[in-house]
Formats: sequence, structure tokens, C-alpha cells
Amino acid sequence: MVSERMKGLGTARSVIRELFEYGKVRAAQIGAENVFDFSIGNPSVPAPAAVNQTAVRLLTEQPDLIHAYTSAQGAADARERFVDSLNRRFGSSYTADRLYLTVGAAASLCCVFNALACPGDEFVVFSPYFPEYKVFIEGAGAKMTLVPAEIETFQIDFDAFERSVNQHTKGVVINTPNNPSGVVYSKKTLEQLGAILTEKSRAYGHPIYLISDEPYREIVYAGVEVPWVPHIYRDAIVCYSFSKSLSLPGERIGYVLVPDDVTDADDVYAAVAGAGRSLGYVNAPSLFQQVTSLCCDLTSDIRVYEENRNLLVSSLREMGYHVVEPGGAFYLFPRTLEPDDLAFSERAKKEFDLLMAPGAGFGAPGHVRISYCVQTDMILRSLPKFKALAESYQ
Ligand code: PLP
Repeated sequence: MVSERMKGLGTARSVIRELFEYGKVRAAQIGAENVFDFSIGNPSVPAPAAVNQTAVRLLTEQPDLIHAYTSAQGAADARERFVDSLNRRFGSSYTADRLYLTVGAAASLCCVFNALACPGDEFVVFSPYFPEYKVFIEGAGAKMTLVPAEIETFQIDFDAFERSVNQHTKGVVINTPNNPSGVVYSKKTLEQLGAILTEKSRAYGHPIYLISDEPYREIVYAGVEVPWVPHIYRDAIVCYSFSKSLSLPGERIGYVLVPDDVTDADDVYAAVAGAGRSLGYVNAPSLFQQVTSLCCDLTSDIRVYEENRNLLVSSLREMGYHVVEPGGAFYLFPRTLEPDDLAFSERAKKEFDLLMAPGAGFGAPGHVRISYCVQTDMILRSLPKFKALAESYQ
């Protein structure tokens, strides 16, 4: 006998992974230059040179020490550097004992959901959403309540949101810039969200935490600002990762920040640490605690993402696709040209070798996700295929 839930998770189809694997097989058949793989969100720009140089230096200077266990919450000097950087950027006064270093944003989220979830609790998520939220929330024994975003803008549908909050709501998850829509919430949107949460927390007599999942915080384009969420809503907990901003997804490094102002901050922080312990994370990778804390003011060169976004948005619109312009991240979430996004994605794949993830997996059928963290040249070569795909529906 094994756990049916775990077996289910271990064997469930991942459409994105399948597309990615299909892309490799297809490339061997017809040549990599003829396959247009927009399926996966692996950063296509390298980490800044300083990241590798710092890693090499640390490995050379501290060949033994650098591989040692650290404190469970992360090495004190690394946490100091991270909070110093946050304080410089956001004018805050966080202390290192409010930061818990993790194995990337996925672990940050798991620690927070497990820390907060009590029997019967619910977490609100806005769709389209990062599909792992459901796995993480249910894994913590809580229920995910899905609220569809406004379809024209992918911004929050506040009426639907208000209706979804009840006495069981423990937290609300936001992800801005967003995977898969690329949408960034404005300060005004966050203020409105914060005002509703403040009122609902008062009405239900307990805090409703805002869990801000921010792996794309630094990946934003000209003229777009990503507000610092804890300055807008007091009960905000930040889940961060260096997977995207420093192009280090395989190194597994990020953090949870529990600001002082958060209700029961000491208990929340202790529970985050307890969750990390019970999930067996032990400590975040010691080498990359040091490397990222020494490089945390840097960001990979994201100019190519912006170039790719501009190229795709203008070209696809010209061809008749309906596209909401993303303010950040490296995803585009156009409407499909038929209501069935699985059929659309399948046609794009089979007839045009365009690999795009169907929107249903992100809780938003009728769309596909295009990951444009790819070479611009591939996008240029793919445009005739997108055009032919559009024409095949005329
Ligand atoms: N949250 C969102 C919205 C993501 O897109 C991802 C990864 O793609 C994660 C969390 C997990 O990131 P990490 O690699 O830091 O675990």
C-alpha cells in the first residue's frame, strides 16, 4: 500500500513537461531549428558573471566550510545581507531574524501554507495561477478557493473576490508579476485588495494573511512598477526566489520574509521554521546562501525578455490574436482561436510545431501560455507559423 494522494501526484500527467519532452523528440526528427518550443519557464539569459565568479571564489577560499550545514533559518551573515538589501531598496527596517532562507519559492510557499493552515482553512488563489499552488495548499491540508480574474485584463475581479472570502479564509495568494499572464498589479489594485482584507479580517475576527509570491519581482519592463506589498497591507508575508531574477532555478534558493508588523509575527516565523523542519528541508543550500546574498543587488540582463515581449505582442496582435500586454515575467497568455485550448494547443503542435501550454492547467481555459524566455531568433522564425495557425481558423 502506498499513499494514493502521493501516487496520484507522482504519476499525474504534466502537459507542460510532456510538451517539453515532445519538443526534444521532435527536434531529433526534423531538426531543432524547426521546432518552436514555448512550453517551459527556464530563464534563457545566464546568471550575471559575478554569480559564477563568487561561487568559484567561495569554493576556492572555503573548500570545506562552504559545504557545511548552516542554521536552519539560514546563515546569519547571509540573512543580514539580504535584509540590508531589502531595507536599502524599500526603506524598511527588517531584521535578519524575520527572514527564513528556503529551497526556492516552491519551498517558501510550502513552508508558509504549512505554517498557517489549521483544519478547515482556505486559501484564495486568483486564476490564471501557477498550478503547483493547488498541490502545495492541499499538501498543507487546506482548501484552495479559485477566483477567476477579469478576463479582459487579468486584474482582480473584486466582486468575485469579496464573495469568495469567508470565516475559513486564512490567506490570499498573489503573484505579481504573474505566471502565466505576465500581469503586474498596480499600487491602486493592491490598496483596494488590502482595504478589503483589512475589513474582512475585522469582520471575521482573525487576520487574513496576504501571501505574496514574488519570483518575478525584478523582471519588469519599461514604465512598470512593482509595489512593495508589505508597505500596502500589514499582514503580508513575502515568498521570494532567485530562480528567475538571477537565472538560478536549479540551485534552489529563496526566502520567506515575515515582517514585524504581521499579526503574531513571532508565531508565524516560528511556524514557518517548524514547517521547514517537518518538510525535511534542513537548510537552504549553503553555497548559494552565500553566493546570492553577495549578489542580491544584481539581476540577470533581462533586456532580451523585453525585446521578445514587444516582438510577440505586436506581431500576434497584427495577426488577429487577442493578447493582454504583460508588464513583467516572461510569459504571454493569448486567447486561443477556438474555445478548446487543448485542441488549439494540439493543432499548433501537430500542424505547426509550435509548443504552447494549454490554459486549462492554469485555471483559465480558452488561453495558451507562451514562455518567451527563448532566443529572439526562434521567435522571428516562428512568426510565419503563428500566422499560418491563425489563418487555419479563418
Ligand atoms: N511561483 C511561481 C509563480 C512560479 O512561476 C514558480 C516557478 O516557475 C515558482 C513559484 C517556484 O519557483 P522556484 O524555482 O523558486 O521554486
